[in-house]
Amino acid sequence: MIFWVSVSVIRYPHGKRQRKNKIKENRKTPEEKILLFGATLGMGLMPVIYVFTPFLNFADYSLPIWVNILGLLLAGPSLWLFYRSHKDLGLNWSASLEVREEHTLVTDGIYQSIRHPMYTSIWLWVLVQAFLLPNLVAGWAGFVTFGILYVLRVGKEEKMMLQQFGGQYQDYMQKTGRLIPRMGKEKQVH
Ligand code: SAH
Repeated sequence: MIFWVSVSVIRYPHGKRQRKNKIKENRKTPEEKILLFGATLGMGLMPVIYVFTPFLNFADYSLPIWVNILGLLLAGPSLWLFYRSHKDLGLNWSASLEVREEHTLVTDGIYQSIRHPMYTSIWLWVLVQAFLLPNLVAGWAGFVTFGILYVLRVGKEEKMMLQQFGGQYQDYMQKTGRLIPRMGKEKQVH
């Protein structure tokens, strides 16, 4: 619960602030909306139902203590990356696929080496959920719902950024990795 509250505290001011930067292009398709709703249920509501009601007790199973400890250890990097990516993305952040009127391409800070650090932090988040909640449904609901959202969204997001920023984003893609920094040598551009 402390983790869930921390995530909300980090995001809250950004949700409020970025409303000032008007949306120019909205790609919030019905599919996007359903996926976002599913992830909210899986990552937000399921753990709350599990903690405060007996409805999901049928799916309880036991987790070894070292898995719980691993979950606690991942919570720190997840929160840090979640915070850093919100801070670096600033007014360009959207919960959905959107381009804002004064959208700038962020390529510094944590975005210098990773294209989707916020998604990295959310992958860690859903692992924290799975490793801390000893329940097959509540534990893995976040992993499954966010996993589907991620797989269906990340390609579309990069296409949208390519259409918006063209060669600038193409160059940026050469230098960065999607979820972790790019390994190996940077491609030489002659
Ligand atoms: N995928 C990124 C951002 C998630 S928020 C991450 O995981 O960190 C989603 C919004 O961020 C998208 O609607 C897109 O408009 C915007 N966005 C994604 N990458 C960006 C970048 N490098 N610079 C500016 N905006 C970006």
